[in-house]
Amino acid sequence: MSRAIYRVFDLQFTHGQGSYLYSDDGKRYIDLFAGIAVHNVGHNHPKVVQAAKEQMDKLWHVCLNYGMYGPAIDLAERLASLLPDPLETMFFGNSGAEAVEGSIKLSRLATGRPAIIAARGAFHGRTMGALSMTASNSLYRRGFEPLLPEVYHVNYPYPLWSSHGPDPDAVTAAALREIEDLLRWEVSPDRVAAILVEPVLGEGGYVPAPPQYLQGLRELCDRHGILLILDEVQSGFGRTGKMFAFEHSGVVPDILVLGKALGAGLPLSAFVASRELHDKFPPGGHGSTYGGNAIACAAALAGLDVLEDENLIDRAARIGLQVLERLRSLEELPGVAEVRGLGCMIGVEFVDEQGRPDAELTEEVVQGCLERHVLILSCGAHKNVVRLIPALNIPDDALAEGVGVFECVIREAVARRS
Ligand code: PLP
Repeated sequence: MSRAIYRVFDLQFTHGQGSYLYSDDGKRYIDLFAGIAVHNVGHNHPKVVQAAKEQMDKLWHVCLNYGMYGPAIDLAERLASLLPDPLETMFFGNSGAEAVEGSIKLSRLATGRPAIIAARGAFHGRTMGALSMTASNSLYRRGFEPLLPEVYHVNYPYPLWSSHGPDPDAVTAAALREIEDLLRWEVSPDRVAAILVEPVLGEGGYVPAPPQYLQGLRELCDRHGILLILDEVQSGFGRTGKMFAFEHSGVVPDILVLGKALGAGLPLSAFVASRELHDKFPPGGHGSTYGGNAIACAAALAGLDVLEDENLIDRAARIGLQVLERLRSLEELPGVAEVRGLGCMIGVEFVDEQGRPDAELTEEVVQGCLERHVLILSCGAHKNVVRLIPALNIPDDALAEGVGVFECVIREAVARRS
């Protein structure tokens, strides 16, 4: 396989069940990364497996251009019922990046404007259009330039590192002012199609946006006729303790981008907007062979059932808070700069004695957990943040054990340095 596939864990997995992954040497791992926020209902949930199997016996694939089928129609209706007005019309794709691409195309088409504003630290995918928006690490962009023109990056409100921090109000005001300045000095607002942001910075460090930031963006977009695109590929489907993270702020985007957990483990994504916006596409103006694949849609519907039946959104809020409270005491340790999060999207950020991002300590923690059979991931531009993204139905004992190992490994790694 390509060297581009960076191997975080040198493991070969044979199967997964719930919040456990099993490797070919017979070992069992507690999974605290859930396929990077895909398995919100855990690996191989019996109801998802059953729904996918039943669909496999009926119909796998047609291509939505050539005929509709039940699972896609039902999923479109189900998603619309979960979303506030006017988010009622979907386009289904396969990956997060594909949905981001679609959202950018729609924003340009609908407004007739070329420019997009995105955030430093944002991750929106790796295809050329999505990559042009991604700015969570210069490595992802290096060598692939020139990327899309007319993309402007501004600072995300990141209280820990902002020169206006740590007060979220001051950081938010500064971040919004930066956009106003950009519109005044560099790009006229009537040239801007959209502002694209993640309501919780994912790959860029697990930083929840202050609600007032999203509210400020909404107001600014309305004032200038700019579309607000929220990328909830990582934060969607109960992950943050609400079905969608935007609900924490009360802000409704013009275009919502979904992926990852949507398909409950099968490739599926969507960008959702009003009927009026989607009607700007001429028929055939956008497309995707596999988008809205019948088995993926059936799995998605079952995944949504599980979220509801097992009350997993409330559970995400509850267990997320418990983990945050438990880990908060780590902030007293030298080396732990911040413990933060929203629901089950929890980040722990590490710094060295000089207060600089400490990727080495972070990697030591990731590897230390691996040795004790707990799988966690790092993130952040400097790879100095650990993110905990368990399945929302992770059993209490597995969560307690996994978080206990994580805490213990951090304390030992910090002690070795002092
Ligand atoms: N948007 C966000 C917020 C993501 O976290 C990701 C992937 O991590 C993407 C887009 C891209 O999704 P995919 O890898 O499915 O293309």
